[in-house]
Amino acid sequence: MANSQVSKERKLRCLFCKADSSTSRSREHIVPESFGNTEHMLEPGVICDGCNNYFARKVEKPILDSLYFKERRFNAVVPNKRGHVVPLDGFHLESGTRIQVYADPGGGISVGAHPDADEARLIKTLLGQSKGTLIFPVATSPEERVLARFVGKIGIEVMASRLVQAGKSHEELVDEPALEELRNFVRRGGGPRQWSVARRQLYSPDTVFSDGDEHYVLLHEYELLLRPIDKANDLYACYISLVLFGEEFVLNMSGPALDGFEAWRASATD
Ligand SMILES: [Zn+2]
Repeated sequence: MANSQVSKERKLRCLFCKADSSTSRSREHIVPESFGNTEHMLEPGVICDGCNNYFARKVEKPILDSLYFKERRFNAVVPNKRGHVVPLDGFHLESGTRIQVYADPGGGISVGAHPDADEARLIKTLLGQSKGTLIFPVATSPEERVLARFVGKIGIEVMASRLVQAGKSHEELVDEPALEELRNFVRRGGGPRQWSVARRQLYSPDTVFSDGDEHYVLLHEYELLLRPIDKANDLYACYISLVLFGEEFVLNMSGPALDGFEAWRASATD
């Protein structure tokens, strides 16, 4: 009888591909670890190992590697999974040397030639001149479609984590028809050519927030927003609001257009 509970254990299904995920071992970070997230995770089996791996390579990596987010991670001194703050690439004009800028753990930055073999030329030029010019590429935003898939993935996972927090199972969402279009867009890259994302800078990335004696910088936060469409029939549009380094990204989880979101928010915050 002691084993009866184990044998009755339900099979788990993946939130994205719906396949049996009972034997999956990986924990899914809702926001990537390399954005400083060490606490918001989904237990193994909510997302199968295959989907977890796919998202890491095809959706999260292009976002993390984009110069736009590399700069933000660098400025906030957020280490990657291996504990390094990824340096920024630049160019020292007078010596014609490619350089890298490193964020020092104790604050401040240091500059070195990259590759190291050019270090002597860089130093010689620096010693001979009182002024110099460092050039950095302009950090344009990541590609819109992959950004929308990234935000949408987080939206679906936030819904699942809210269910789990409420003592329910993520599996209530696996066959949810209202999520099908977004699930397909996020996991397969299928469906509409573009899924709209509204963006605005809510606060400066280095804003220090206080809670009693605690002072902290917010690297990320998220919430689900419900806009009533038909209150009598309990119909709502659901939006994910994701804030990274003070910038908010909003996506409509019910369809690719933001619909009346901006007007609704303007009226709600009046
Ligand atoms: Zn899966």
